[in-house]
Parts: sequence; C-alpha cells; structure tokens
Amino acid sequence: MAEIREGGCLCGTVRYRVKGNPVRASACHCTFCKRRTGSALGMLVLFDEANVEITGGPLTTYEHRSDESQRWIRMQFCPRCGTTVTLKLERFPGACGISAGTLDDPSWVKIERVILDPISSPLDDISSRYRAI
Ligand SMILES: [Zn+2]
Ligand SMILES: [Zn+2]
Repeated sequence: MAEIREGGCLCGTVRYRVKGNPVRASACHCTFCKRRTGSALGMLVLFDEANVEITGGPLTTYEHRSDESQRWIRMQFCPRCGTTVTLKLERFPGACGISAGTLDDPSWVKIERVILDPISSPLDDISSRYRAI
C-alpha cells in the first residue's frame, strides 16, 4: 500500500495528505523562487495531483506568469498565516507541488535536482560558507 504522509501550514488551518512517492523533488535558486519564498531557495516536491488531498483550508491562489516562458504558476497559500502550501505549474499538467518545508516530516525527501541561479549571489552558497549550528 502506498505510504501516506501529512503536512500543513504554519498556523495549522490548511492540512494535506500525500500518497505514494513524488514525481520529482527539486531545490531551486532562481529569482522567482527566492521572491516567492522570501528565502534563498525554493524546495518543491511534485506529486501526481490525484495523490494530494487538502484536508483543511481553503487555500487562496495567486497566479504568476513567467516573464520568460509566459506560462502560469499558481501559488496556493493559507489566507491566515501566508504559508505557500501547494504550487501548480502550467509546465507540469496534472501535478501538484508541495512546499517541502510544510511536510510534518520532510526527512524522507530526496532532492534529485538543484536549479542554480545564473546570477549567483551569496544566498546561493550558504551551506558551504557557514558553520552548522
Ligand atoms: Zn496557516
Ligand atoms: Zn525556481
């Protein structure tokens, strides 16, 4: 039987369950991911849409259009605490991305690809420059 994993937003209003293994998992340092997360990178675990069940909510959607490809990206976030929980991309029809940090236990996630920003900044090199605490 496929494994069920759970997660949710910071305030707990939005909860979800995902079934089975992700289609892919990536860490992305592009400018879009920096801006959408307010952090150094975005980590996305992509599932088949049929395997994602939102059990709390509802989520609010913000649609962004890529300057380069003109394709849409829909960020879905908790209207109460602002956590982006899911992300849907025109590029991946039928798939639903989960923000990796919202999983209750993200320790099983294996990041298979890292997308670097062509214009690197000190934010893109945090792991090698600082001591873990
Ligand atoms: Zn919330
Ligand atoms: Zn990105």
